[in-house]
Amino acid sequence: MDPIAQEASPMKPAPMKKEQFHLLSDIYTVIDEAWNKTAAQYGFLCEGCEDNCCTSLFFHHTFIEKAYLVHGFNQLATDIKKEALSRARSYYQKTFPDGEMPTSLKLICPLNQDGKCIVYQHRPMICRLHGLPHELHRPGAEAFKGPGCSAGPFESHLYIPFDRTPFYKEMARAEMDFRKKTGMTGKIKETVAQMLLF
Ligand code: SF4
Repeated sequence: MDPIAQEASPMKPAPMKKEQFHLLSDIYTVIDEAWNKTAAQYGFLCEGCEDNCCTSLFFHHTFIEKAYLVHGFNQLATDIKKEALSRARSYYQKTFPDGEMPTSLKLICPLNQDGKCIVYQHRPMICRLHGLPHELHRPGAEAFKGPGCSAGPFESHLYIPFDRTPFYKEMARAEMDFRKKTGMTGKIKETVAQMLLF
């Protein structure tokens, strides 16, 4: 399938309009505000660093985020999209050499061009949450504590509570609502490259 054509497929929701993403957009706004507030308390500025989080092998698990990312991607100029899709194909071939098990090669995300995210307003939740020390609470499991990225002043600073749990809950709610409206079903676990290609 030509990804630029953006037809619907079992793994790709049909193209959506901006107003259909209100719920997700609101969640992203809350995440961004909470992240910025906590980062400011640490005195942490996320600016170009060697340990670029866009080289992390992130997987994304919601159709609604995929649809929103693709929605943002579709607004880019055709030549920019073509270049990004070419990078996505190369990323996918190198990361999934046997088509199944991923290999983390610390490759830069295909949507990072010259050090900048070209879909910044539409980037997924994990890209927005990355960097700060955090906690996550799952029913019936011990609280998970995650470290901050190596660019921050986190080791020499007392932990400032940053709980991802409410964001994950709201995202699950938005995903359920999206699935009801679009009929999308099943599991999704994709890198940005896969979200663009399939
Ligand atoms: S979507 Fe944007 S912020 Fe997220 S990894 Fe790719 S380039 Fe970086």
